[in-house]
Amino acid sequence: MPSIAENLESVRVNISDAVLRAGRESSAVQLIAVSKTYPSDVICEAVEAGQELFGENRVQEALVKIPTLPGRLRWHLIGHLQSNKVRKALPLFQLIHGVDSTDLARDIDRIAAEEGHHPHILLEVNVSGEGSKHGFSPETLERDLEMLLSLPRVQVEGFMTMAPLAPEAESSRSYFAMLRELRDRMREKTGVPLDTLSMGMSGDYQVAVEEGATLVRVGSAIFGSR
Ligand SMILES: *Cc1c(COP(=O)(O)O)cnc(C)c1O
Repeated sequence: MPSIAENLESVRVNISDAVLRAGRESSAVQLIAVSKTYPSDVICEAVEAGQELFGENRVQEALVKIPTLPGRLRWHLIGHLQSNKVRKALPLFQLIHGVDSTDLARDIDRIAAEEGHHPHILLEVNVSGEGSKHGFSPETLERDLEMLLSLPRVQVEGFMTMAPLAPEAESSRSYFAMLRELRDRMREKTGVPLDTLSMGMSGDYQVAVEEGATLVRVGSAIFGSR
């Protein structure tokens, strides 16, 4: 079995190849190593291989693991956030990816004011319309975006999406393209850059990079299957 260092190297090479194919700048894409469910000693192997940006999906798990790892690492919350976990999440994460409702965004904003934080967030968009997925529909997002951008504490950096599970990476392409087009339209309409696009996982991150992802969230291709 390849080591975590070897897996990371392959993922990095695949990302640079996709960046080249798309004619983008290699600095435009950052790899988030999704370390959920993996213990600190496994995460350390990735740190030793040079990885400093990690993604966790549960606040409770992150609270336990993050203090055991080097302080220079950066952490993103990639999963669904419940309002009752916001207070604990704010000091742990540099970016909260899965903000999927105006109520949650308002809660984050209010608690950030109480706690003295200025959180950076991504709005999760359900581009596929699958009922099982969290996120704003493109229509709701378009309606609510001005309000979300006017929240005093929260800074909206861009959008995040998950493509429907499919055996073929190519099946994700149209969803990723839809998210980018939505972003371009919203950028035009609001004048806010919305630079960050978080899309692509182990099965489809190369396609995501070709379609404009700036953050890819890769777990099992690095750490093995959970
Ligand atoms: C677990 C998870 C990932 C990583 O999934 P892999 O298929 O293991 O790469 C990416 N994004 C989110 C939101 C996740 O929960």
